[in-house]
Amino acid sequence: MSHRPNDMIALAKTKAEPGLWMGRYPVPEIGPEDVLIKINKTGICGTDIHIWNWDDWASQTVPVPLITGHEFAGEIVEIGAQVEGLSIGQRVSGEGHLVGKLSRQSRSGKFHLDPETRGIGVNEQGAFAQYLKLPAFNVVPLPDDIPDEIGAILDPLGNAVHTALSFNLVSEDVLITGAGPIGIMAAAVARHVGARNVVITDINQDRLALAEQVTDVVAVNVANEDLKDVIARLGLKEGFDVGMEMSGNQAALDQMVEAMVMGGQIAMLGIPPGKSPVDWSRIVFKAITIKGVYGREIFETWYKMISMLQNGLDVSKVITHEFPVAAFETGFGEMLTGSSGKVVLDWTSS
Ligand code: NAD
Ligand code: ZN
Repeated sequence: MSHRPNDMIALAKTKAEPGLWMGRYPVPEIGPEDVLIKINKTGICGTDIHIWNWDDWASQTVPVPLITGHEFAGEIVEIGAQVEGLSIGQRVSGEGHLVGKLSRQSRSGKFHLDPETRGIGVNEQGAFAQYLKLPAFNVVPLPDDIPDEIGAILDPLGNAVHTALSFNLVSEDVLITGAGPIGIMAAAVARHVGARNVVITDINQDRLALAEQVTDVVAVNVANEDLKDVIARLGLKEGFDVGMEMSGNQAALDQMVEAMVMGGQIAMLGIPPGKSPVDWSRIVFKAITIKGVYGREIFETWYKMISMLQNGLDVSKVITHEFPVAAFETGFGEMLTGSSGKVVLDWTSS
């Protein structure tokens, strides 16, 4: 491209210690099946906080140096020779999981189950940069009515949508444990698709207050209220029909199993730390189905979430902070409090 700059600003893990550092890097060279995306906005994910903190998972997973970040919206500025159906200037987001095409599941069209999946900003160069190289296969065009800040949170909204659409929620009573950004968005999705009661739990009052601002939910602080009382208050005779575990906390899963109806269905997105004890006999005697949920269905989840956003799903209030990228340390600071919603960084002024 004629106006291709030589280098760009990016946020990278350059030392094996807590923090991220802003530096200048070469603009990525794209291959024949890639596009180059000029980044407008990015979301900070819980994963980025693990990488910032350099915890056990991050130090065992993330190579140094690496440009981090995987939640983004931007526009296409270069297109590889083999790419069809995309154009320069097109506004896009994209799937950050890079999948192989040879596994049993990929060949059956279930790309999200490919065992060779690699993540941008985790295993490969990421999106906290002025420019991102992405396979054209992973690009998801943004309709004009979806702004960049929503485009920048489609990755976690996709986690919420994937989990929420795992089981039929129409007229069902739904329990969500964990009112982080993803739990809150899952509550909004459950409402949107027609659940009867949506209850969300947390032990952080700020997060529960945010949930109530974003959508019509019953927010329960399980540090000082018993779920049994909530079940009685709502007039649920036998408990919740569908559960979504979105805290990664073992106590929350136990509580959920107890609060479910016989034959209830649980979708588990939350990642417990290491091995967690589970009372399997309760799960067997209650005939509960548990589904693990990873990532987003490629690309069915993307299709459904964009459709829902165009049909009245509003998650905009889950974005509690937006900063220019120069203030990224403040943005990460807000995330590190554990009480923020989504924090978005703006790259357009950088
Ligand atoms: P988050 O950490 O922001 O939110 C988790 C919330 O759970 C917090 O608000 C916390 O206070 C709350 N919590 C802690 N103990 C609780 C308890 N006993 N009962 C109820 N709530 C409790 O996380 P997030 O970014 O919203 O993500 C949600 C979960 O999903 C995390 O575990 C994350 O690691 C996981 N995740 C999984 C995937 C996947 O592909 N499977 C993708 C993204 C995130
Ligand atoms: Zn994410």
